[in-house]
Amino acid sequence: MTAQILDGSAIAEQIRAEVGAEVKRLIENGKPWPGLATVLVGENPASQSYVRGKHKACAEVGIESFGFELPASASQQEVEELVLKLNADPKVNGILVQLPLPSGMDEEGVLSKVSLDKDVDGFHPVNIGRLAQKGREPRFVPCTPSGVMLMIGKVLPNLEGVHAVVLGRSNIVGMPVALLLVRANATVTICHSRTRDLPSVTRQADVLVAAVGKAEMVRGDWVKPGAVVIDVGINRVEDATRPRGYRLVGDVAFNEVKEVAGAITPVPGGVGPLTIAMLLRNTLRAAKLSGQ
Ligand code: NDP
Repeated sequence: MTAQILDGSAIAEQIRAEVGAEVKRLIENGKPWPGLATVLVGENPASQSYVRGKHKACAEVGIESFGFELPASASQQEVEELVLKLNADPKVNGILVQLPLPSGMDEEGVLSKVSLDKDVDGFHPVNIGRLAQKGREPRFVPCTPSGVMLMIGKVLPNLEGVHAVVLGRSNIVGMPVALLLVRANATVTICHSRTRDLPSVTRQADVLVAAVGKAEMVRGDWVKPGAVVIDVGINRVEDATRPRGYRLVGDVAFNEVKEVAGAITPVPGGVGPLTIAMLLRNTLRAAKLSGQ
């Protein structure tokens, strides 16, 4: 059996087109352009590249974007003051603090300063707390985790009673994905670096989400036949045949697993493109909620 390949680029394209059309409608109705501010602290090349990608995507759908860069030497107070200034700026509907912040900085301190109404990344402690609580609704759901759920929903619209295994428990991917799966009534197992005999756990998964950051760790014989496999990992592996000297692979050994799984996301072109699409969607929502 060869798995259905879930094309994240195509789904993301559709979401971007929907956001673009909605922005156009807002402008035609005399509303201001939605605005996203990014806050980048330090010179991490991967973060710089992610932020560039976000600005480009905004421009394509008619969302104004404002980039703020601070040196790695910036103090906690300077970063928090910038966030507070952006909270007060009516042109800014969404604020994205690019993570990780330089080591030594209190990430929670910064994220908790972002206005709940502008928390388009969904990482404010209150939004994450609401995600974990029954009967509470976060104002915004983190972008990569909601992309993961969208992908799963394409093949399994009803997760009731389904056994989902999440590899990874980070604040930005693994844990919010697990919380969203619980909210969707799946039975969830969370694995991490201290889990014993990982393959015996993953083989029980109807839905397997890998977010560990270890190149091709999940092998073909770790996967239950017919399972839905969502690969969040983005890892560089050396490849002398490529102009850049490397290629990107996920946390899943794609060629092996696609012969066992029922559906699988590729890397690149799977979850990755959905992260930015969800950010655009959240920013549009923030603009609409602002009532401007
Ligand atoms: P983190 O490094 O923050 O977390 C990794 C998680 O994996 C931790 O919970 C860790 O366990 C667990 N882990 C590490 N090694 C093992 C192992 N050998 N066995 C089992 N569990 C293990 O990573 P992120 O969550 O930030 O990112 C994960 C991956 O997703 C990365 O490749 C990243 O690049 C990618 N990513 C992709 C995005 C996108 O598509 N847009 C967005 C964000 C991330 P423990 O908690 O015990 O340390």
